[in-house]
Amino acid sequence: MEEKQRKARREKQKRRREKEIEKYGDMHRLAFTCAFCKVRTCEDKEIEEHFSSTFHQQTLTHIQKQTKFDDKTIAFLHDSMVSKFRKTMSRKRVVTEEVCLSKVEMIHCMACRTHIPSSLISVQNHLQSSDHLKNKAEFTETQRRESVLTATSIMTNPIVKARFDKYLKGKNPFEDEVKETAEDDQDAQDDQAECDLTDLNE
Ligand SMILES: [Zn+2]
Ligand SMILES: [Zn+2]
Repeated sequence: MEEKQRKARREKQKRRREKEIEKYGDMHRLAFTCAFCKVRTCEDKEIEEHFSSTFHQQTLTHIQKQTKFDDKTIAFLHDSMVSKFRKTMSRKRVVTEEVCLSKVEMIHCMACRTHIPSSLISVQNHLQSSDHLKNKAEFTETQRRESVLTATSIMTNPIVKARFDKYLKGKNPFEDEVKETAEDDQDAQDDQAECDLTDLNE
């Protein structure tokens, strides 16, 4: 990539990041996410469970149906998401814990975009409310639609393409990355962060 292009892109990323932080605070950059399923959590166990859940598998199946990506591509998309989680974990563990602990008394309902007290009764009441059920149906539909867009945009990204080529050759492109220049690594991170934005732009 040419130096000029790279610089322009970096500027764009910087502006975007400032806008995000202004709008959502620093929180979303520290949480663990699955950009396909619109899942975001502070708990590493929760996201790990998510990656092996039926729900996540169904999203991947849906993406594959819509995009006609082959099995290898779908496996790559999944591995990309898991590797991003591992990186977030190693880099931001301490900060994440601090930020997340302060949020522990409240649970965020992604479908309703609201916070509810995390007591069992209030969560149960919320899950059974007609507002929640209606929001959830809408949310699921949006999530399904956007998972396809996210997957497609990831696979058209030139950095991801290069990574996928390695993956096809049986190499582990996620490990190699660490050895690449810090700059490239930051780019890759930012690109993946961009994917996360789909679940913030609601
Ligand atoms: Zn998922
Ligand atoms: Zn809800």
